[in-house]
Amino acid sequence: MSTPKTEADCLFCRIVAGDVPAEVVHATERTVAFRDINAQAPTHVLVVPRDHYADAAELAAGDPEATAELVRTAAAVATAEGHPDDYRLVFNTGAGAGQTVFHTHLHVLAGRDLAWPPG
Ligand code: AMP
Ligand code: ZN
Repeated sequence: MSTPKTEADCLFCRIVAGDVPAEVVHATERTVAFRDINAQAPTHVLVVPRDHYADAAELAAGDPEATAELVRTAAAVATAEGHPDDYRLVFNTGAGAGQTVFHTHLHVLAGRDLAWPPG
């Protein structure tokens, strides 16, 4: 779990590697942030760790510092997009909760009213 990992057939590993194009808006030592291809809000950015972990809990267990950096990056993205105080962070975990890409990603949503509870 502590070894940096990539998976050849993982879409987000391929985006991190630059093998699949994405609109990258922020990058740090451990994270990359890029726009969601199917935006659900004026700002909809995905922040991913450079290393492959399947979900947020695996990342937190394997690399706590990267988990914190994910949140710091998300806040920096929201601020850069003009929404420093009002944004939503989401980790969908498991297919039943809507996770479709099994490389940890933190959704950053902002720029419109965000209802609660989410759908
Ligand atoms: P989730 O459903 O939580 O696993 O989120 C996966 C997200 O990845 C969805 O919001 C998709 O729109 C997004 N997505 C899928 N393919 C790409 C891509 N090539 N570039 C950017 N975002 C993508
Ligand atoms: Zn991956």
